[in-house]
Amino acid sequence: MLIDLSTLISDNSKTCTVDTEIEAKTFDINGFKYPYEDGKVNILFKCEDGKLKIIGQIKATIIMLCDRCLSDVKKQFDIAYNNEIDMNETGLQTGADEEYPFIEDKQFCTEQFVYNEILTRLPMKVLCKEDCKGLCPKCGKNLNDGSCNCERAEIDPRMSKFQDVFNQFKEV
Ligand SMILES: [Zn+2]
Ligand SMILES: [Zn+2]
Repeated sequence: MLIDLSTLISDNSKTCTVDTEIEAKTFDINGFKYPYEDGKVNILFKCEDGKLKIIGQIKATIIMLCDRCLSDVKKQFDIAYNNEIDMNETGLQTGADEEYPFIEDKQFCTEQFVYNEILTRLPMKVLCKEDCKGLCPKCGKNLNDGSCNCERAEIDPRMSKFQDVFNQFKEV
């Protein structure tokens, strides 16, 4: 949703509120499309002496994937945003400001705002649970559901070195 802030900026000390659902169906990153289960955004704008106050709240649930076993993980975002932007700075008027990519030519894009704020709070690692066992690299079975019959030769690298030396010794 695009919100035209030009009237708000020219008429000093007025406020404007926006209460809307997130329009995007998916949160797209690195070629992945994570579906939104729900998403709401609520923003209060206030402009005084060329300073735009933005008080926003984003509540969203995104269905992501566990990094280890690839099962669905619901990530909840409850973001409180509070900022004051000096609209007299020329960069903002033309949309050249990197810090506020959601404002361009006095137009505020709620979708860009939501994307930007969730992006900065995206967890580094997504796990279904702390001790997720992941998938078997051989058969792909989810090891949280029980072990598989694949042989897992986990040789300690120090031991294998030892073995090499031992084998060499035997050859002599
Ligand atoms: Zn997992
Ligand atoms: Zn297996």
